[in-house]
Amino acid sequence: MRDDNCIFCKILNGDIPSRVVFEDADFQVIMDAEPATKGHCLILPKDHYANVFEMPDEVAAKVLPTAKKVAAHLKKTLHCDGINLVQNNGEAAGQTVHHFHMHVIPRYEGGNAKDVTWSHS
Ligand code: 5GP
Ligand code: ZN
Repeated sequence: MRDDNCIFCKILNGDIPSRVVFEDADFQVIMDAEPATKGHCLILPKDHYANVFEMPDEVAAKVLPTAKKVAAHLKKTLHCDGINLVQNNGEAAGQTVHHFHMHVIPRYEGGNAKDVTWSHS
């Protein structure tokens, strides 16, 4: 289930390029186009849900296990010191793309490296 007007659905359809970090039957994880820090990723469900409230519980239940996998990969490859898992719902909460997504944001002691040339491979 995709929405023709949704930028993340266009990414999932392959109509807009993105750097895919991880993929399974339910989710695609991509690099954020404007990373807050080195390794900032977004977990996208493959079906379109505008926010967490529209998402079925069985899909929602898989988000944190996916986030843990991605976070473990980032910790191992980037040696970050901490990781934010952030998820916005509604414009008032800062949501700008209305397709559910969870931010996975590595954090680094003494500042936040922004080297976007880092490769996930
Ligand atoms: P929100 O503010 O909705 O929680 O986060 C939306 C995120 O999507 C932002 O961090 C923004 O940089 C990212 N984003 C917006 N458009 C694109 C895009 O076309 N490609 C990728 N990879 N990220 C995008
Ligand atoms: Zn969508």
